[in-house]
Amino acid sequence: MPLSQRTPTYTGRFAPSPTGPLHAGSLVAALASWLDARAAGGRWLVRIEDVDTPRCVPGADRFILSQLAACGLAPDAPPVWQSQRTATYEQALAQLIDDGWAYPCRCTRKEIALALGARGETPARHGELVYPGTCRDGLHGRTARAWRLRTDIPVPVRVLDVEQNRPSVLAKRTKFATNSVATGFIRWTDRRLGEQQQNVAQAVGDFVLKRADGLFAYQLAVVVDDATQGVTDVVRGEDLADNTPRQVLLQHVLALPTPRYLHTPLVRGADGEKLSKQNGAQALDTTDPIAALNAAAAVLGLPPQLGTASDALAVWVLQWGARWGAGRGGPPGALYNRVP
Ligand code: GLU
Repeated sequence: MPLSQRTPTYTGRFAPSPTGPLHAGSLVAALASWLDARAAGGRWLVRIEDVDTPRCVPGADRFILSQLAACGLAPDAPPVWQSQRTATYEQALAQLIDDGWAYPCRCTRKEIALALGARGETPARHGELVYPGTCRDGLHGRTARAWRLRTDIPVPVRVLDVEQNRPSVLAKRTKFATNSVATGFIRWTDRRLGEQQQNVAQAVGDFVLKRADGLFAYQLAVVVDDATQGVTDVVRGEDLADNTPRQVLLQHVLALPTPRYLHTPLVRGADGEKLSKQNGAQALDTTDPIAALNAAAAVLGLPPQLGTASDALAVWVLQWGARWGAGRGGPPGALYNRVP
């Protein structure tokens, strides 16, 4: 069945990258997504995001799954590993190439920095350079290194196919002009953060779909996987919120449903920085699951519990449901017709 034709029933997911064990911050996202799924009476899936293989630590995937299990967070279906899904990402890229959204790029980082400098621009966004679009008009005899998504053409407005109650793109790219929102401009509503918007073309530029080392980029993999798995609700850490516009844009151009999003508060270290494996966050100690869960629950504004992990989870499901209850934020796909 085409990805765009799956029936939405609540499906949530936790999608850890196996670059190390779970830490206190990642448990917050795992717990929140589990609570949201349970409160909605839906399914909760775990996807191991090992697409960036050089950053993965052997055995971390199994260890993460055992840490989740120790905390009573067991997925409702066997986990999926992104490293086994390359063929599906290839298909999505082929579709984007076919429809004129993806193009090959030959530029090295140094060349991108030089091109930006020549235009008098020194923009660095989280250390990332906003790609100046050099290869949009072809490779000029050079060899492709990566594939990028065009963000300089109007985003298609999607409509719900009334008969089938399914999303569809109005027309192929060339016909979008009269039915389009501003170029690369994405608006979305976060269930916790509220109305959000980003001009992807200005803030990020044509972003990478397939990297120079041949690996698929997180943005493409996550969008394809969320659609394949029928994910209706993405609940994850706030550090990922600014990836959402790129993902919504990809959903638009691939004619895939847009899930609801809820970005959870981050756990900060003593230095005020977000706790992450990169800044040496300790592996989560699950020998005392209720202590680990209580710490995560506190970040989510849920009161500490004294009993077992499963008793605590049952209490929090009710409290979570009362605050973030199923359906708040509208049905998945509510964004389809939103034109600024
Ligand atoms: N794999 C990502 C991470 O561990 C999370 C991706 C997502 O939830 O969309 O940061």
